[in-house]
Amino acid sequence: MKVFKFGGASVKDAASVVNVRKILSMYQGEPLCVIFSAMGKTTNALEKLTEAWVKQDMVAFELLDEVEKFHQLIAEELLSDAHKTTQPLFAELRRMLQAEPPVLYDSAYDMLVPFGELLSAAIVSAYLKQDGLYNRLLDARNLVITDESFRNGRVQWDETTKRIVSAFSENVSGPAGLLTITQGFIGSSLNGHPVTLGREGSDFSAAIFAFALDAKEMIIWKDVPGVMNADPHLFRNTVKLSRITYRDAIELAYFGASVIHPKTIQPLQNKSIPLWVKSFEHPKETGTLIHVPEKTDKHIPSFIVKPNQVLLSISPKDFSFIAEDGLHTIFGLLAHMGIRINLMQNSAISFSICIDNQPEKLNRLLSALSGDFRVKYNDNTELVTIRYYDQKTIDQLVNKRNVLLEQKSRLTIQMIVEQQSKNKPADTAETLVPVEEPAADQLVKKRGRPPKQKTE
Ligand code: ASP
Ligand code: MG
Repeated sequence: MKVFKFGGASVKDAASVVNVRKILSMYQGEPLCVIFSAMGKTTNALEKLTEAWVKQDMVAFELLDEVEKFHQLIAEELLSDAHKTTQPLFAELRRMLQAEPPVLYDSAYDMLVPFGELLSAAIVSAYLKQDGLYNRLLDARNLVITDESFRNGRVQWDETTKRIVSAFSENVSGPAGLLTITQGFIGSSLNGHPVTLGREGSDFSAAIFAFALDAKEMIIWKDVPGVMNADPHLFRNTVKLSRITYRDAIELAYFGASVIHPKTIQPLQNKSIPLWVKSFEHPKETGTLIHVPEKTDKHIPSFIVKPNQVLLSISPKDFSFIAEDGLHTIFGLLAHMGIRINLMQNSAISFSICIDNQPEKLNRLLSALSGDFRVKYNDNTELVTIRYYDQKTIDQLVNKRNVLLEQKSRLTIQMIVEQQSKNKPADTAETLVPVEEPAADQLVKKRGRPPKQKTE
């Protein structure tokens, strides 16, 4: 069994779906489980629709019409009886919008947003059937079982594995038994409530199926030739990595490379299932293999630049050392406010963290910290992460800018550097004034280069 995943860009219009068919026909005769994301930018559109529904804003129906038109056009180009495929789903969506939304926003989201994937898989499955590629369509909500952490479902592996194995051991006679189509990103709780797995979660869905089915390999089909050593949209002369380790893939994904959803690798690694990232535009090219360490080639430096970061340096107001209780308070606040730390470093009297610059959250954090702590900050910074770093790559990326904090392990370096000044807004300090405390003595801008710290 091989597990494939096709993302939104690979099914963004009728021509793309025809291309998917071509790729699948290259594998005809092999057992395949194929996971689809919502078409194009449908998930964004459905998020807006959810907001309107929750506010009981009538604009919801206009937004639904747009989503319907987009799918209908694609379906009509591909199918002789497009309505038969799409109308049951749109009728269900319309009924849902006419009813009161649930109180919990996240649960409303998980009722509505999965329709992107349901539509996409239904249209592709019907088109493949019509065009002679027999297949069966399974509803992933009956197979991927999670808890009720809406929008971020935690997979219940035993139940999920049991259900997937049983669905695939059913005797489906004829060629339809070989090709199974299902949706990424969605599952449900044991109580039958729909639950999504987090944005871009279809990669993870594919890994769940690959794990449960002991797949021979998994392939993610993308609009890039494979895993690149940097974002080709931002850097020139990027190179494709031909073989990398699971660990490399996890690190790159975690630090923000938008190659693969970070949760995808672990289930594959546990069963040593090879993961390929290949181009859906050039499906015969080899792509990137993510697998076991022995087989990697020489290490090409890979890097990720996260712009728009803030470096906070937090120290106790009473000049005490920063100790466990202080850290406990700080971490508690961060967790409570849903702020993710991109990098942290501790010294005797201060604790530094680098976080995304989200002014509203930042203001709340600063105001909550201002009781016990003195906080200094640098905004307009970016976080540079280089895996398999060398001096040349460091110099190129730092480009003579001021490095405010640096952390090195054997394989990875992370640096917080001042953002290029051309991007610097005239005065961002205003947006960072804590809500309750005056800015002046609290938020002194910090300059210079703090001490380095070796972490490994
Ligand atoms: N359609 C979902 C999203 O756009 C899931 C995915 O694409 O992986 O986030
Ligand atoms: Mg998507």
